[in-house]
Amino acid sequence: MPFNRPLILLLLMLLLTAAWWRLQPEAASVQRTQLLMGTTVSIEAAGADRAVLERAIAAAFAEMARIEALMSPHRPDSDVSRLTAAAHTATVAPETVEVIALGLDIARRSGGAFDLTLGRLKSLWGIETETPRVPAPAELASALQGTGPGALSVSGDLVTKRSPQLAIDLGAIAKGYAVDRAIATLRAHGVPSAAVNAGGDIGLLGSKLGRPWRIGVQHPRQASSVLVTLEAADRAVVTSGDYERCFERDGRRYHHLFDPQTGYPAGRCQSVTVLASHAVLADALATALFVLGPERGLALLRDYPGVDALIVAADGRLHSTPGLAAVKAGPS
Ligand code: ADP
Ligand code: MG
Repeated sequence: MPFNRPLILLLLMLLLTAAWWRLQPEAASVQRTQLLMGTTVSIEAAGADRAVLERAIAAAFAEMARIEALMSPHRPDSDVSRLTAAAHTATVAPETVEVIALGLDIARRSGGAFDLTLGRLKSLWGIETETPRVPAPAELASALQGTGPGALSVSGDLVTKRSPQLAIDLGAIAKGYAVDRAIATLRAHGVPSAAVNAGGDIGLLGSKLGRPWRIGVQHPRQASSVLVTLEAADRAVVTSGDYERCFERDGRRYHHLFDPQTGYPAGRCQSVTVLASHAVLADALATALFVLGPERGLALLRDYPGVDALIVAADGRLHSTPGLAAVKAGPS
């Protein structure tokens, strides 16, 4: 039977029209940035209606600012500041309870490598100030006194400290939580596709025009060069590295990820990237794995099915979960 050319052409046109209609819901895209939680936060969203996207992004930033007001150590009336100032207990918001409970669980599972009670240690190093310094060993020992996974507990909306001088620091987990809240806000506004990037804590809603988002992982030793490109959708991708918030003294690099056993910056990794369903989990695990190092870090991930990690060890070698085994160094 000969081909019916007009019919084939008609079918082709129908197909093209259908494809065009499919693309229409993603017709508009909006990108905005704001300074929040000590970093530049960028939100990129795509959908059918620009006005909806603008409203959704504004609401997502407002939600992140609300989380910052609860968890920032720099706001005197935040939950974290009130908890640090408290002799023993403080009542906190449900969001803070959720973050502390998850943090304490990871603190226990990581054998204390992840620690929400390092506030005094962080202040001692002045790591986020204009004048960071290397503390004396006796100062480190004093700042670590009473810290650890057992030093904090939650019951209902009440958080209890073991000792009055304990200072709480949610710096390794709060940003991830805020990213999750931003993604939930965008979703609630009907946004089908979005990426929220809070200085390396990335949350992804849906895909990018039907394809996975492509995330470049920074090379920890070559500024502005990409180590690998990861593909992900509906997932969080969070990186912790020793090249951020660091300073050099006498030829040595000191950074902001502390080993609670020693009080010094952890030395087993250059960077850790974690992929998980939620940024709060990815954020906390990236810090925990950074402190634990590749072997113990990957062992910890056996407790977390569905979580992947890419670790650049101190010697520059790559380690990863089986889910990322195909990832090779170098931009693609
Ligand atoms: P970034 O802030 O660069 O995204 P992280 O998410 O890894 O990096 O968090 C680093 C912050 O976590 C530090 O600035 C400090 O506030 C806190 N921190 C440092 N060491 C630890 C640790 N061992 N456990 C938990 N929190 C830590
Ligand atoms: Mg972290």
